Amino acid sequence: MFYLMDKKGLEQYKKRLLDRKEQLQDIVSRAEQDGREADGEIANDIADKATNSYTKEFLFKKSNDDRFILQLIQEALERVDAGEYGVCVACGGEMQPKRIDAVPWARHCIECQNKQEQGQL
Ligand SMILES: [Zn+2]
Repeated sequence: MFYLMDKKGLEQYKKRLLDRKEQLQDIVSRAEQDGREADGEIANDIADKATNSYTKEFLFKKSNDDRFILQLIQEALERVDAGEYGVCVACGGEMQPKRIDAVPWARHCIECQNKQEQGQL
């Protein structure tokens, strides 16, 4: 095992993950509420229907993105507990610190992320 992250560093990333998770859970549950309110408005005022469905679509997409990141954060936290945090899930190599700093819930190292974006993974 060539995994070098120290315990203190790990705790810091874990805290960042937990903070972000809490934030996103807040946003997602608020978006769900806004979605329901938009439903109510559509029923009340047919003339605004187009605007409202646009808003709803936006909120839905936004909350889907947030949900996806929440999922990634959850997986990252599981990797923290399993002692596998900071290791790329594709190549098993250690992730670059700047990669984890930028995206603490990243699953792939920079190299594998590039490959994935080019459809090679
Ligand atoms: Zn990799």
